[in-house]
Amino acid sequence: VEAELMRAQRLESLSLLAAGLSHDLRNILQPLLIMPDLMKARTEDPQLHHLADIIAECGRRGHEMAESMLSFVRGSRKPSEHICLVHLFEGVELLLRSNLPAKVTLHLEVADGLAVDANYTELQQVLLNLSLNAIQAMPNGGRLTLRAAPAADTHGDDWLRISVTDEGIGMDADTLSHLFNPFFTTKATGTGLGLISCKRIIEGAHGSIHVDSQPGVGTRFDLLLPMREITDTADAVDGPIAAGAGQ
Ligand code: ADP
Repeated sequence: VEAELMRAQRLESLSLLAAGLSHDLRNILQPLLIMPDLMKARTEDPQLHHLADIIAECGRRGHEMAESMLSFVRGSRKPSEHICLVHLFEGVELLLRSNLPAKVTLHLEVADGLAVDANYTELQQVLLNLSLNAIQAMPNGGRLTLRAAPAADTHGDDWLRISVTDEGIGMDADTLSHLFNPFFTTKATGTGLGLISCKRIIEGAHGSIHVDSQPGVGTRFDLLLPMREITDTADAVDGPIAAGAGQ
């Protein structure tokens, strides 16, 4: 599971890098789109006109390449599926139990009849990321609880809440304020890309991610997602095992 997550996080960091590069490149090339025309307006010299046209053409090509790199990165989001929460939890449980530290106990609570629209593999990755963080926050053991239920108590009938709760070391205000910054980590071998990748995936599914934490007590991450009706097409994807193996 950890190797799979490392691979997903490396991919995520590559697309962050590509998005940043193409954004900067577009800005750097901007003068090349405008200035050749300004230069041509100041001279009749045909040779200088020719050189200005070459510069403009290079600028245009570079700009177009930056544009298509950006849309490639943006367009690489995986397609949304109708996911049954019971099946999602079965798949996550399967992967988590395979290397759960002895002192950590795993509890899953999921109500029947809940569904969301998201990419199965991505949503699974979010729950695994949050769960592995939770396990790493409990070096002396404790309870890891994954719960899915309607969020009617706080958000009305249209929202579903998935929470991942641990009894770990918790976070201070400073850590909390940097939590979703790319590359922010307090771990010797951390990437600092887990949570930003979770946030991107959840926001891509029109949801939001929230955290509540107390040093020495524990942490709870809440994912709020639009509630969907269970239909026959829920889990058009081949169930948790096939989806887990096919990444
Ligand atoms: P990484 O796990 O590689 O450090 P993340 O983006 O997943 O990257 O997490 C960033 C930081 O947030 C962690 O280094 C840790 O300090 C803090 N963190 C995340 N989840 C928890 C948690 N459940 N309990 C305590 N701290 C956490």
